[in-house]
Amino acid sequence: MYSERFTKLTPYVPGEQPQDRSYIKLNTNENPYPPAPGVAEILKEFDVETLRRYPDPNSEALCHAIAREHGIKRDQVIVGNGSDEILSFAFFAFFDSAKGPLLFPEHTYSFYPVYCDYYDIAYKKVALDDDYGINIDRFVDEKGCGVIVPNPNAPTGMLLSLDKVTELLERWPSDRVVVVDEAYIDFGGESAVALIDRFPNLLVVKTFSKSYSLAGSRLGWAMGSEKLISALYAVKDSFNSYPVDTLTQKAGIAAISDRAWFDKTRGMVMAERERVSEELTELGWKVLPSAANFVFAGAPDRDGKAVYEGLKAKGVLVRYFNKEGLTPFVRITIGTAEENTALLDAVKSL
Ligand code: PMP
Repeated sequence: MYSERFTKLTPYVPGEQPQDRSYIKLNTNENPYPPAPGVAEILKEFDVETLRRYPDPNSEALCHAIAREHGIKRDQVIVGNGSDEILSFAFFAFFDSAKGPLLFPEHTYSFYPVYCDYYDIAYKKVALDDDYGINIDRFVDEKGCGVIVPNPNAPTGMLLSLDKVTELLERWPSDRVVVVDEAYIDFGGESAVALIDRFPNLLVVKTFSKSYSLAGSRLGWAMGSEKLISALYAVKDSFNSYPVDTLTQKAGIAAISDRAWFDKTRGMVMAERERVSEELTELGWKVLPSAANFVFAGAPDRDGKAVYEGLKAKGVLVRYFNKEGLTPFVRITIGTAEENTALLDAVKSL
């Protein structure tokens, strides 16, 4: 009944979205604050009559707004249904393991191997340093068909400096694509978008799900040389020529145009991240330095799964990872000040 391709699939397992009771939900790196007020205005004033028609297939107005925000050209931008869809286009267009395996960090976003299996791309996991940081020498030494690194990495939250990203691009063959997945960059890192004119093989992928608080809308984008972006349009038009719906296009424009809201909310998340990190450290936890909207932290006296279970029983959801090397830790999304205080209280009472 099934194709052989299908029988080999190992689907991605999304984080828990429980419907049974209300938890303090710190498990899927969502933003604790609402999207920019302009998004609510768009919803209130939306003319439902426009849903009769197909959306603008290439989200022109939204791509222009994104390009303006980053000081780049419109043809250096493409949007999709969440950055997951953009990543899927990129894996299809750029990675061909006839030229060697795709390289990504040993501990990273678990969708990457899923896409590799889906598109039949061989991959190699490159070990992290002992302190869990990404070591670019190890990538350069491997010589694969391409590289994908999240920056900051997930689930560690650790940042690769823009200098290191630049060095990786300088030392990497210019005919092989490097994807920098910047889902969390707005919480304390410097974007590599500044490098796209210098390195035509660089693709920077971003999302509205985290710093713009629109995870429910499914909106992400990529920025790179016109050459890379036009390849992604060719893939998009082959799979689904209308990836972003009309309402989401408008919501995205409202969100990206409100810089004051963006700066205020990400500032609050970063300040709370420092408080949570400091308090957990004082309680004897090992907390990795995070530049994201979550912290990766291990309790002194029990493993991640036990912490997860203990906190869940107290109504706080975090995430643990059943993978060698990650079992001591839980990943805790930064919530509102009240949610974080409740988390810290729950931790103290474990
Ligand atoms: N990249 C990384 C590193 C992520 O953690 C996530 C969120 N799960 C994504 C990409 C995808 O985000 P989205 O599809 O919501 O844009």
